[in-house]
Amino acid sequence: MSMQKNVVLFGPPGAGKGTQAVRLGTFLKVPHISTGNMFRHHIKNQTPLGKKVKEYSEKGLLVPDDVTIAMVKERLGQPDVRNGFLLDGFPRSIPQAEELDRILAGSGLPLHHVINIQVSDAEIRGRLAKRATLEGRQDDADPTVIQKRIDTYKNQSEPCLSTYRPKGIVRDINGLGSIEDVFGRIQKVFA
Ligand code: AMP
Repeated sequence: MSMQKNVVLFGPPGAGKGTQAVRLGTFLKVPHISTGNMFRHHIKNQTPLGKKVKEYSEKGLLVPDDVTIAMVKERLGQPDVRNGFLLDGFPRSIPQAEELDRILAGSGLPLHHVINIQVSDAEIRGRLAKRATLEGRQDDADPTVIQKRIDTYKNQSEPCLSTYRPKGIVRDINGLGSIEDVFGRIQKVFA
């Protein structure tokens, strides 16, 4: 049996998804598809898409589903995802999760694991504030935006988990500890 490498990395902002995703993508030898990174790239290069999404991103809001879904659909249509993929930051709403199901079904690709990195609200706030000073990320700098991103996660993103739980594909990971600790826990999913 081929290794199960069709993966969604899930978790609140500040859970360490991005850091873990880079490692996991290298470990699994699959493309790391980060919608956050894709949007930041477009914003930085002032592309038409970047101009469209800048405002949402700066306010801690989700970019509208149609825009996000179109971008991911295009990416998942590329041949390199047939040997596995690591989605980081997508899906983040129920419509996105439903659309992902349709895209994958249409390509004959199953979703093997939803890796859910769990961290408390208090820990998230502390980490995001720290990350702002280290990386200078605009959306990490302002406490109002941080709170908005946490609310957005709770209201729009977290419900995706209840659609995945009945399928038996959610792997809950304790997100506390060092980067190595957390990565060790994630690796066990693939052992
Ligand atoms: P991230 O780096 O994953 O935290 O993403 C940064 C920002 O990009 C988010 O706060 C959203 O504004 C936007 N974004 C990233 N992924 C998505 C998504 N799946 N749906 C809507 N907006 C997204």
